[in-house]
Amino acid sequence: MKLTVIGCGDAFGSGGRLQTCLHLETKSVGAFLIDCGATALIGHQRAGLDPGAIRTILISHLHGDHFSGLVWWLLHAVHVAKRKAPLEIAGPAGIEQRFRQAAEVLFPGALNKPLPFAMRFIELGAGRQREVGGLTVTPFEVSHPSGSPSHALRIEADGRTVAFSGDTEWHESLVPCAQGADLFVCECYSYDGKTRYHMSWEKLSAELPRIGARRVMITHMSAAMLVRQDMARRAGVIVAEDGMVLEV
Ligand SMILES: [Zn+2]
Ligand SMILES: [Zn+2]
Repeated sequence: MKLTVIGCGDAFGSGGRLQTCLHLETKSVGAFLIDCGATALIGHQRAGLDPGAIRTILISHLHGDHFSGLVWWLLHAVHVAKRKAPLEIAGPAGIEQRFRQAAEVLFPGALNKPLPFAMRFIELGAGRQREVGGLTVTPFEVSHPSGSPSHALRIEADGRTVAFSGDTEWHESLVPCAQGADLFVCECYSYDGKTRYHMSWEKLSAELPRIGARRVMITHMSAAMLVRQDMARRAGVIVAEDGMVLEV
């Protein structure tokens, strides 16, 4: 699998980074996304990646910096790409309704006409492994209120495993989620342990030995964490950058 970091910022634009979106290219089932923040299309254009080639989009949780890019994705698919290929979107319970509400607020009437392609929503439930677009996806419960259950995701394809924390403070479910993964992408919003519902470097670095992922990448960093990113590098962790490409 080839990972391109489309966006690795927090919800506040810290460090001038785009919002969360990870692009993964597999040999077996083509390209898919993990999360689709509002800036996902901008990041695809910068990286020279074709949004029309995406078959599946996995959403960790229903916060705007992780799912609202679906609205612009829809407009691009209809008006620019003239998409015909089906698109599968998998995320927490209520994802289709939240998407429709967001689309109606931002571009009234955008969903009034039948779409020229099949847009299928799949609801994921914590602990229920399932196939989505040829990927094996296991969602895990995490601690991050978003109006619907928030998930960490374990994804298998091409005989490789990628785990993604979504947004969360430390939660024991991250251990089975990322255990032995080829790559664990973990949010690391803060440096110390004071931010509720978000991870700190202090906590994550203490727990990484228990997780035993082969490689770890931190993302979703606040300004306070970004100025300390060298600390994570010295600990052997990859610090995400927009546009970074990594073979998993
Ligand atoms: Zn976020
Ligand atoms: Zn969030």
